[in-house]
Amino acid sequence: MMNLNKPLLIDLPPENWRFDDLPSYRVSQIQQWIFEKGTLQFEEMSNLPANLRERLQEEYDLNPMEIARAQGSADTTQKFLWKLRDNQFIESVLIPATEGTKGVRASRMTLCVSTQVGCALGCKFCASGLDGLKRNLSTGEILGQIILARKKAGRRIDNLVFMGMGEPLANLPALLPALDQILSPNGLGIGARHITLSTSGLVPKILELAKYPAQIRLAISLHGGDDETRRKIMPINDRYPMKELLGACEKFIEMRKKMITLEYILIKGVNDDIKQAKLLAEHANRLNAKVNLIPYNQVEGLEWERPSQEQIMAFKNKVIEGKPPRVTLRMEKGHDIDAACGQLRLREKTIEDKVAL
Ligand code: SF4
Repeated sequence: MMNLNKPLLIDLPPENWRFDDLPSYRVSQIQQWIFEKGTLQFEEMSNLPANLRERLQEEYDLNPMEIARAQGSADTTQKFLWKLRDNQFIESVLIPATEGTKGVRASRMTLCVSTQVGCALGCKFCASGLDGLKRNLSTGEILGQIILARKKAGRRIDNLVFMGMGEPLANLPALLPALDQILSPNGLGIGARHITLSTSGLVPKILELAKYPAQIRLAISLHGGDDETRRKIMPINDRYPMKELLGACEKFIEMRKKMITLEYILIKGVNDDIKQAKLLAEHANRLNAKVNLIPYNQVEGLEWERPSQEQIMAFKNKVIEGKPPRVTLRMEKGHDIDAACGQLRLREKTIEDKVAL
């Protein structure tokens, strides 16, 4: 039973779990139950004495969320809508992929994780921003998505992408402690190079992230080659225009010695002209960055459309002509289950609003 008056144990770092002189081996046992076995119920921790389980239960809550809805699609992408302890909704998306060459094929599982309820940044293509920001997620709510989605998948999660609902860099005080637990061998044990943070371009936060010790990957949602085009799609461009954003990317790369990715959603008649493709290639060359092209995923309530296949290919070929280090075209999985961030929550909310009327 969820109780908002109790603190959530996984909001705290394990070194702070040592209430009443709990010996460190007990802390390790609890960590194993939570992070290795995915248990979010104290009563299931069978190697803890009954009185300790009771005390933990009295003082802490362990489960940050319950599943409100799960959707799977034909390509086996699965989307989870979680109900948080305060009845807010967030989403995570589980995306399987088969990778490898020369006869060695391995199946990998990627989880797209949310960091906020809603979003303040209002990118024009995105369902998450339609309703504004409700609140930041806590560390435990970020970790809970991974622990519970892994349980649902019944297998290890190989990659994490922080591209779900919310702007990850706007919630660094909760996200960085969550990353500590994700990276820790006593936590979820997922390596830094398997973790990508995606930002809409919060310049000061990019520079703050550059100081985080682990070599996590950074993706920038560019979506326009110049200010005029980008500001039509991303209002944040008025606060941090392209010049500042590209300058921050250069500093990040210089400090981290790490390649970044430029994400570019292709929207019909908005940013899919050949001039933008040329500019995108120039920016990628300047930053020695990879380019990831993503044809727009239709959002109910928004008028924008996906470009034709011919236009998508013409744009891609023009970018390739500019010879950036790498160009990929991501045909989004889960197209049939509203896999773009925020769409399932928005639908659930619309249903709730209709019921409330
Ligand atoms: S794309 Fe990301 S940053 Fe932009 S509104 Fe959506 S959730 Fe927020």
